[in-house]
Amino acid sequence: MNAPSHLPSVDKLLQHPRTAALLDSYGKTQCTQAIRAALADARSRWLAEAGSSPDSADALLDAAEHQLQQLFAPRLKAVYNLTGTVLHTNLGRALLPQEAIDAVVQALATPSNLEYDLADGGRGDRDDLVEDLVCRLTGAEAATIVNNNAAAVLLVLSTLARDKEVVVSRGELVEIGGAFRIPDVMTRAGARLVEVGTTNRTHEKDYEAALGEHSAALMKVHCSNYAISGFTKSVPEADVARIAHARQLPLIVDLGSGTLIDMRDWGLPYEVTVRETVEAGADIVTFSGDKLLGGPQAGIIVGSKALIAQIKKNPLKRALRVGKLTLAALEPTLRLYLHPEKLAERLTTLRLFTRPAAAMQQQAMLLQEPLQNLLGADYVVDHAAMTSQIGSGALPVESLPSHGLVVRPSERKRAGRLLQQLEAALRQLPRPVIGRLRDDALWLDLRCLEAADQPAFAANLQQLALGSSGKDGPA
Ligand SMILES: *Cc1c(COP(=O)(O)O)cnc(C)c1O
Repeated sequence: MNAPSHLPSVDKLLQHPRTAALLDSYGKTQCTQAIRAALADARSRWLAEAGSSPDSADALLDAAEHQLQQLFAPRLKAVYNLTGTVLHTNLGRALLPQEAIDAVVQALATPSNLEYDLADGGRGDRDDLVEDLVCRLTGAEAATIVNNNAAAVLLVLSTLARDKEVVVSRGELVEIGGAFRIPDVMTRAGARLVEVGTTNRTHEKDYEAALGEHSAALMKVHCSNYAISGFTKSVPEADVARIAHARQLPLIVDLGSGTLIDMRDWGLPYEVTVRETVEAGADIVTFSGDKLLGGPQAGIIVGSKALIAQIKKNPLKRALRVGKLTLAALEPTLRLYLHPEKLAERLTTLRLFTRPAAAMQQQAMLLQEPLQNLLGADYVVDHAAMTSQIGSGALPVESLPSHGLVVRPSERKRAGRLLQQLEAALRQLPRPVIGRLRDDALWLDLRCLEAADQPAFAANLQQLALGSSGKDGPA
């Protein structure tokens, strides 16, 4: 159907005096497309509402400009993570230390010795940038780095167990974050899963009975995101290692988070370290770079020289390898671990885990009144003790004492709608604020809002635009 003759043409709008600024900001291709789309919209509206007056050139250009602004706006936005989950997978997991940020900026802007041996001018191996550090920090003989821990598990199984069997306890056939399930990864790696034991109990004799001529490895998987309690038994790594080694088979351990330090030294709950796992006899250990380690997304594989060499020769390694930005970020993060006395100050994730609740309480008390004033009589803002989670499946049952703000609607009958409105308004802020809805209240855990960020946070909140709250008048 043709345009109503009284709508301006695309050419006419492109030559409109207002369009010069749009052309300068956004270029001809996108401006033309946005104007066409605005015209198409206006045309269908005009057809749908017979007799309505067609849009003016200004209204059409407003629509085009709005579209262009959205098209050119960044999609990846900084947000405030007040969910109380420090390593929040949907919000990007670990925040990196300044040393890593600086190194990434440099790697983005300048050539580097990524695969170049500065000692002899020959070709290098990108793993060399971090391998000695990883080995020093874990006690392993060798290491290689891939895109994430899921890739690490895939690569290890594909190398060591293709067309063969891998024995795993039923209690450890976990699913991590929806898309990573041990049985599925096993299939994709071409390995056959042999399940032993029951969901809650697996014994040494179960492993022994499952081993045969097709066995390639025994595997233990850290039950990252769930805990079995009650009548349970699992076989410790050292005992599974002994069973494996008696048959010249390797023990593979997927540690998931994999910490490099004894977290108890920082007053945190205990989590088995990579070093302890290596010392228990694991031949290969895999873990994530962006969980408890506090670095970039990466999968770190450590183990014996011979097995790591075999893994590095798998053609999949080339497909799963990391880019220079990952290595640029990982290397300084690992170097921080060489100096544990300063670690809680420098490693951002550890600094967040170890923030005293009193610091968050002080912040909450400072923010309570300004937030109450912004929200008006529809809401009641309190500060309260709460608990943060480490997140990303690390220590699922452990929580950290924290403090924050709790916002409750002042009227019960409109509570649901008011809460939704508030939650949405916080998401629409220039820097969106993400909290947690629970028990008919919005909880804003201040653990991940460091004191230095507080002024910017308060200024951002001033932009809060709560829509009208409905029949009872404006909020
Ligand atoms: C998190 C986790 C994975 C996946 O690690 P990514 O780095 O997210 O790919 C695999 N196994 C276990 C046990 C985990 O906890």
